[in-house]
Amino acid sequence: MTDRYQTFTRTPLGQTLVKNLGLPDPAPLPRWTEGAPVIDGPVVFGAIGETDTGKAIQALLHDIGASFSTAAEGVASSEIRPKALVFDATGASSTVDLSSLQRFFSPVIRQLAPAGRVIVVGRTPELSSSTDQHVAQRALEGFTRSLGKEVKRGATVNLVYVAPDAHEQLDSTLRFFLSPKSAYVDGQVARVGTGPLVSNDPSRPLAGRTALVTGAARGIGAAIADTLARDGATVVGVDVPQNADALRKVISRIGGTELLLDVTAVDAAQRIAAHAQERHGGLDIVVHNAGITRDRRLVNMRTDAWDAVLDVNLRAPERITKHLVESGALRDGGSIIGVSSMAGIAGNNGQTNYATSKAGVIGMVQALAPVLAERHIRINAVAPGFIETEMTAKVPFTIREVGRRINSLQQGGLPIDVAETIAWFADPASAGVTGNVVRVCGQSMLGA
Ligand code: NAD
Repeated sequence: MTDRYQTFTRTPLGQTLVKNLGLPDPAPLPRWTEGAPVIDGPVVFGAIGETDTGKAIQALLHDIGASFSTAAEGVASSEIRPKALVFDATGASSTVDLSSLQRFFSPVIRQLAPAGRVIVVGRTPELSSSTDQHVAQRALEGFTRSLGKEVKRGATVNLVYVAPDAHEQLDSTLRFFLSPKSAYVDGQVARVGTGPLVSNDPSRPLAGRTALVTGAARGIGAAIADTLARDGATVVGVDVPQNADALRKVISRIGGTELLLDVTAVDAAQRIAAHAQERHGGLDIVVHNAGITRDRRLVNMRTDAWDAVLDVNLRAPERITKHLVESGALRDGGSIIGVSSMAGIAGNNGQTNYATSKAGVIGMVQALAPVLAERHIRINAVAPGFIETEMTAKVPFTIREVGRRINSLQQGGLPIDVAETIAWFADPASAGVTGNVVRVCGQSMLGA
C-alpha cells in the first residue's frame, strides 16, 4: 500500500505546502539492502568516564568499519554530518552525571544526518549498584524518549540498557540499532543481559537454523519468512489451507517447507512438532505471527468474535510454545518471538478482544523468559504500530491517516521493519536479549 500523502510531500508543491501550513513532513526512511554497510557515515562517540561498555562499543564501531570520533566539540564546529551519535551513559553513578547528556548532545544534535541514529547505552536500572545510580540510569528513558520527539528528517533515538558484565553481548543489538534495519524503531528501550557468547557471521547469522513462521502467506508473516531466509534460516511456513497458493509462493521463493494448518486446531502443536522433527530435525526459532482482528465495541461483541481472536492470537501461541518446549522440538538455545501490538499496550476503541490477546502475548514473554532461560531459550516480542498491510488497508480512510501520522516519523511502517526486529531477536548472537517487548511504531504517541 502506498502512502500518497508522503509521495506528495516530496514534490516541490508538497514541500511548499508542508512548510507554509506546518503539515506533517514524513521523511524517506532508507531500508537496509544486501551488501550495504551497517552504517554509511561518521559516528560520534561520547561517554561518562571510561567503562567496559564504552570499550566494547568502540571495538564494535571499529569492527564494522565506521569512521568515528570522540571529539563532539570538534564535530560541532565542522561541516561533518554524523550518521550516528552513540553515548555510553553506564558510567552515570548519580544524577550529577546527567549533565553530561546535555553537554554532549546539545552542540552536535543539529548536525545529525537525515535518517541518523542516536543510541544511548545505560546500565539496567534495577541492576544498579546503588540507589543513586538506579535513579540516574532510570532518568535516561525520559531523555531518549523526548529527544526522539525532537529529532527530524527520519532520525531515531533509542536506549539500550545493559546488565553488569553483559557488555560483550551488545554487538548484535548495536548493529541493529545503528543500521537501517531499525528504520521504524524509535523511542524504544531494549535490555541486554548476560548469556553465552556466540560469534557468528553477521551477514548469515541464522545459517544452519530452522525457523517456524505462522501466518507466513502474506503481509508481515511473508516479510518475516523472507528476512529469516535472507539471514540463512530454513523456514517452515504455516498458514491456513485457504491461503495455500500464497504460502506456496513464499516458500518456493525461499526454499523452505510449508505446512497448511489452522494454528487453533487441537493437534496443531503436535503436527508442527512432527513436521519440524521429520523434515528438519527440530526447530531453533518460533515466530508466532498469525493473527486476526474481529473489531466491535464490547457492547456489541459477539461470543464467536471474542473467542476467535483470543484463540488465534493468544491461546494458540501459548499451546504451541508449551508443546514445542516440552517435546524438545524447539532445541535448547532457541528463540521464541511473539507478535503483540500497540493496541495491547495502549488499548484501542473497538478492540477489547484484540488488545486482551496482544497484552497476553506480552504476559507470555514476561512469564516465560525467566523459566525458559534455564534451557537458554529466549522469548521476546515485537509490538507493531501502524504497518502498511492488507490488515491496515481495510481501516477506514480517516482513521488510517491518523494512524499513519501520530508518531514521531509521521508515517506507517513496512512489514520489513517488523521482520528486521524479529531477525535481531532470532540472531543467536542476541543471547543476552530475552524478556524484551520492542515496539515497531515510529514512536507512536499512543501508549508511549
Ligand atoms: P494479515 O491478515 O495480512 O496476515 C495474517 C496471516 O495470518 C494470514 O496469512 C492469515 O491467513 C494467517 N492466519 C490467520 N489466522 C490463522 C490461523 N488460525 N492459522 C494459521 N494462519 C492464520 O496480517 P498482518 O497485518 O500481516 O499481521 C501479522 C501480525 O502482526 C498479526 O499477529 C497482527 O495482529 C500483528 N499486527 C499487525 C499490525 C499492522 O499494522 N498490520 C499492527 C500490530 C500487530
